[in-house]
Amino acid sequence: MNKTTENTIAQLKRNGFGVSFYVTAAEALDALLAQIPSTASIGFGGSMTVNDMRIYEAFKEKGNAVFWHWYTNPGESRKDILRSAATASVYFSGINAITEEGSLVNIDGTGNRLSGILYGHDKVFLVAGMNKIVRNYEEAILRIKNVACPPNARRLGRKTPCAETGKCMNCNSPDRICMATLILDRQPAGVPIEIILIDESLGY
Ligand code: SF4
Repeated sequence: MNKTTENTIAQLKRNGFGVSFYVTAAEALDALLAQIPSTASIGFGGSMTVNDMRIYEAFKEKGNAVFWHWYTNPGESRKDILRSAATASVYFSGINAITEEGSLVNIDGTGNRLSGILYGHDKVFLVAGMNKIVRNYEEAILRIKNVACPPNARRLGRKTPCAETGKCMNCNSPDRICMATLILDRQPAGVPIEIILIDESLGY
């Protein structure tokens, strides 16, 4: 673990967040599978990191009730899955940026991920690779808008300036994907958050 990671973890803990550090995504997934019982219902917010780690598939295979609007089964509506995810006992999401000051920054288009991080569960797990660590809030916004949003907009087939040029132009496009920003400077009083920090580059 390098000095920046060490300091960031210390700062996150000082701000009240739980932090677990793993060298690989596979180790992190094994630890999560061992920690969360098969009786727990699990909701998911949109996250390429969570998707690439195949956390949804692993818990589905374990027998947990899993709810992610990225994966609808025949007969299930997206709206119903979003509601079930919002009230599941455990919630998973990624993090768009972690500051060395120990704050978490997420930007969302719909808002389900942001409300899911804040409310409705017994425990929230936020999974992130080292590529999400930035110095401060200003760098977090620059990172999200110019590193995370362009590939996300392309993945979603959105016609936004960032999708076309790779740079944010603070657009007013009807396809805009960044509508709401959630900054967590401290662990909120309600749901305990555990940050799963992995020594790899993961997601956007
Ligand atoms: S404001 Fe528009 S251009 Fe900027 S990141 Fe968001 S969607 Fe992309």
